[in-house]
Amino acid sequence: MDFSLTPEQVELQGVARRFAYTELWPAAQELDKAARPRDAFPADLVKRASELGLRTLKLPREYGGRGIDAVTEALVLEEIAVGDCGFAMTLAHAWREGNLIARWGTRDQRERFLPELASDPGYLTSLAMTEPHAGSDNGLPYDGDLGAGPRTSAVLDGDHWVINGTKRFITNGNVARLIVLWARTDPGKPWTRGTSGFLVPADAPGLRVGRTEDKSGLRLNQNVELIFDDCRIPKENLIGELHHAHALSEEAMIGSKTKEAVRALGVARSAYELAGQWATERIQGGSPLIQHEAIAARMAQVLQELETARTLIWRAAWSVDHDPERARPLEDMAMLYTSEMGIRVAAQCLRIFGARGSLRDWPMEKLMRDASTIMLPPIGNEASWARVGNFVARHPEPAPLHGPRDPGPRDPGLRLPFTPPE
Ligand SMILES: Cc1cc2nc3c(=O)[nH]c(=O)nc-3n(C[C@H](O)[C@H](O)[C@H](O)COP(=O)(O)OP(=O)(O)OC[C@H]3O[C@@H](n4cnc5c(N)ncnc54)[C@H](O)[C@@H]3O)c2cc1C
Repeated sequence: MDFSLTPEQVELQGVARRFAYTELWPAAQELDKAARPRDAFPADLVKRASELGLRTLKLPREYGGRGIDAVTEALVLEEIAVGDCGFAMTLAHAWREGNLIARWGTRDQRERFLPELASDPGYLTSLAMTEPHAGSDNGLPYDGDLGAGPRTSAVLDGDHWVINGTKRFITNGNVARLIVLWARTDPGKPWTRGTSGFLVPADAPGLRVGRTEDKSGLRLNQNVELIFDDCRIPKENLIGELHHAHALSEEAMIGSKTKEAVRALGVARSAYELAGQWATERIQGGSPLIQHEAIAARMAQVLQELETARTLIWRAAWSVDHDPERARPLEDMAMLYTSEMGIRVAAQCLRIFGARGSLRDWPMEKLMRDASTIMLPPIGNEASWARVGNFVARHPEPAPLHGPRDPGPRDPGLRLPFTPPE
């Protein structure tokens, strides 16, 4: 097992860290205070990230990116999330949706969309699944009711798909050039077998942006309602097989939860770094706070939480590229652990600031808001626990995530000897 970073990883981590500490963090402190959510969108920072090559890192090299693997994504995104985790979410969408088109798009789709994504420094993307009535249904996925999952419909009319419905909570929906949409193509089947993926240009006729959500945290990240009213797109914009959006999302979404976990880690790391600075500076009882045993122990506990989360994230990220079947539960666990850890750590660090922890012109209260918001997507944590629970129920063998992938016939002698007493 080798945890050392490659020269390319060190380089990209350095680029992202300098950007996050010197440009993103200071700008985010101001933008976060914008009263109207739309005014918090950092268009200039998206362009700056493009200049540094950060927006297109995940695109294959042939399309102008660096084709980074999931571990490198985790390393780079952690730095960006330290600067602002809402912005990290904005950027990671371009990674994921760009990669989705590169891997699962037709040659025509790759040629129509990827060159512009690569070359236009403001080009962002969205993925639109959630609807007012269906959130976690998309992630579990619940198919016991025909009304579960997407109800937005796509009907073929000549050479066009005609789309009707409303999506909610869509990241980048008001600033994206391209929306990857999940829409129902067969309402007579459960959504997992009757939903398809589509590439919808933001200027498609019949598509408009509804409300912009006024979230407490991740304020730089735009989150909107998208309304499709007889929206027409060419029939060639179906991505993946007809009715197979669920299968496509199972493959294409791999790595997404690890990135949610990384964002929570970024928030927690910012809180740790700030609390460390303040604890060194602030003198109470005749010495800096960090010299008081109770504070040092609290900081030690926070550091242990960060390292635990990062180790789990790296394992999940490695599995995304090398052991996808195990990646699913590992990603869920990384997301669950880190998102809840983010709130614990932000609260611990806030205490170290005393009354100043709650002041709006001090940084801790933003981090508390960000940490609590990051816990909500891409499906609620209880729903994620249910997914991990399903994995556990399907794998009664000892240590299902440990040891060889395919150990051959199980040796019953390897089970711990246990006979329930009468
Ligand atoms: C910052 C942010 C960005 C987002 N970006 C996007 C985006 O880009 N694209 C997009 O499509 N969506 C996006 N979403 C929406 C997000 O995917 C949904 O919020 C999520 O799926 C949860 O859905 P919900 O909010 O409707 O909660 P619900 O699904 O109603 O869940 C409410 C609660 O019930 C629990 N629960 C639900 N079902 C079960 C179950 N079967 N068993 C146990 N517990 C359950 C959940 O864990 C949660 O605690 C975003 C949300 C946020 C906050």
